Amino acid sequence: HGLKQRGLDIKEGILTTNELIEALEKAGDWWQNQKKTYVGHAETVVKKEKKENPILKLEHIEYVYSSGTAYEKRALKDINLDIYEGEFVGVIGHTGSGKSTMIQHLNGLMKATSGALYYNGENIYDEKYNLRQLRNNVGLVFQYPEHQLFETTIFDDVCFGPMNQGLDKNKAGLRAFEALRSVGMPEDLYYQSPFDLSGGQKRRVAIAGVLAMKPEVLILDEPTAGLDPKGRDEILDLIAKMHKERKITVILVSHSMEDVAKYVERIIVMNDGSVMFDGTPGEVFLHYKELEQVGLAAPQVTYLMHGLSEKGIPVDLNATTVEEAKNSILKAFK
Ligand code: ADP
Repeated sequence: HGLKQRGLDIKEGILTTNELIEALEKAGDWWQNQKKTYVGHAETVVKKEKKENPILKLEHIEYVYSSGTAYEKRALKDINLDIYEGEFVGVIGHTGSGKSTMIQHLNGLMKATSGALYYNGENIYDEKYNLRQLRNNVGLVFQYPEHQLFETTIFDDVCFGPMNQGLDKNKAGLRAFEALRSVGMPEDLYYQSPFDLSGGQKRRVAIAGVLAMKPEVLILDEPTAGLDPKGRDEILDLIAKMHKERKITVILVSHSMEDVAKYVERIIVMNDGSVMFDGTPGEVFLHYKELEQVGLAAPQVTYLMHGLSEKGIPVDLNATTVEEAKNSILKAFK
């Protein structure tokens, strides 16, 4: 629709990537001469200058479940990662690739079988390290976080975290107000039961509960699981807003490439307990064929751009969102 609005002559009712490629091929007779000479290429991505000190650093992290038994499972294999303050990182990988195991290491809930993990330069496995402080700084929103709701009112539920941190009732209350407001919860609901809310709203309350602890790093494990498309967009928009406004470091675990491509700046792809790729969405999705081999798919836009490029249409193979693809196609068609 975006392309049609901008005057490209393509038919109505296109639903698939291949239909669109075909329609665009027909629409652009003028480039017939150029197409023989054009060779698809990905634009070189200039690596952003990283700050020196990562907020989280994983060094040779290994984790083995049920070690020494018949059920032994090496769930993390030599994970080396630097996460920098203010980053918005997506972690993707199919079920069983080690995503949940990895993120539970980041706030010390799970302890690596071997390797070192640093938070702001300090090794969290040092005997004297204050793990309680780490859990305050690294907030983890589990899958189906609404299962963590338990208080009689929404407000009390959100107060629980800050009070558990040692804040008095007034201070915890202020934190709760602020967190509930920032997740867009209407004030008239604050004193109702969290269990009467819709799925999307319960999830907001659960996220508010973690935000109220003012974490420096916010990790969300599949925050959109089980939500309908509208609920999914609202939660992802909310997370993006928190990242932008609070300048908080966000790690978003997802199996949806489309979600991740639209929102994050960096993608870590996990496969069978290892980091398979780590880069910008544009960089990572260039490997779409390798991703397919491990049961993952790139966003539809990636297939579209590669398909167009194979037909000789000079589009940007780094485009990963609908908006980027639209702009790149319009540019190719001048
Ligand atoms: P993901 O979050 O990507 O789905 P997980 O971290 O849950 O992956 O799992 C990684 C691997 O560890 C899988 O093979 C899984 O079966 C195994 N695993 C996870 N939890 C346990 C457990 N409690 N005991 C034994 N194996 C486990």
